[in-house]
Amino acid sequence: MIRLEGVAKTYEDGTVAVTGLDLDVPANTLVTLVGPSGCGKSTILKMVNRLIEPTAGRIYLDGTDVTDADPVQLRRGIGYVIQQVGLFPHQDIATNVATVPSLLGWDKKKARARALELLDLVGLDPAQFAKRYPHQLSGGQRQRVGVARALAADPPVLLMDEPFGAVDPIVRARLQDEFLRLQRELGKTVLMVTHDIDEAVKMGDRVAVLAGGGRLAQYDAPAAVLGA
Ligand code: ADP
Ligand code: ADP
Repeated sequence: MIRLEGVAKTYEDGTVAVTGLDLDVPANTLVTLVGPSGCGKSTILKMVNRLIEPTAGRIYLDGTDVTDADPVQLRRGIGYVIQQVGLFPHQDIATNVATVPSLLGWDKKKARARALELLDLVGLDPAQFAKRYPHQLSGGQRQRVGVARALAADPPVLLMDEPFGAVDPIVRARLQDEFLRLQRELGKTVLMVTHDIDEAVKMGDRVAVLAGGGRLAQYDAPAAVLGA
């Protein structure tokens, strides 16, 4: 589903972030990408959704070379969740989530109904949360809104960059479990970045271990990664 072939990225200032990376993320699997800070994880995700361009190599999404795709069209098929989910502070939660369907041209009523459905899906009771503002949410609740928003256009692919990194360990464990259930239920293809090996092993159907410079040190089932 997601395929990287010989992908490299050297930033304009000469920093080598990724070198010669080959990686296959099969459909409906959750692959975790784990490695120390600065090893190129975020850079890899940003290349897949074309926030930045690789300096070499090819990236395919469902067989299509992403460099040939219209970026707007491409991102409709990709949900993106980052650690610091940026919510519009002056819009309530339902409106925040309805932004994407609205951008897609859905009518207001339909977009709002979809937003309420999504809030429910990520465990935020719409009756309680729809009219709250971002500052009235906990960190964990904000991350849930981030997941809801990423799911709004029903994309087949989710890219997640340390999605549960900013919340305390107990909340994190709950969000992880709930997300795993959701992923299986919805059948999404997920590439998720983390620096936490425990999280990588717990969540991944397969675990890609990165060394410095975005080089793939290992790509295997979680049990095999732990045994190494
Ligand atoms: P990770 O997500 O694994 O922490 P990143 O992909 O953010 O790593 O960064 C990989 C390397 O690229 C790091 O050395 C980082 O400092 C560098 N880097 C990231 N973004 C830029 C940029 N815009 N310009 C120059 N160097 C960058
Ligand atoms: P933030 O709101 O965290 O600052 P942006 O302003 O970049 O992030 O994004 C605004 C909205 O667009 C968010 O819903 C985000 O999930 C979505 N988005 C941004 N970039 C992408 C992308 N490359 N693919 C899919 N969705 C994206």
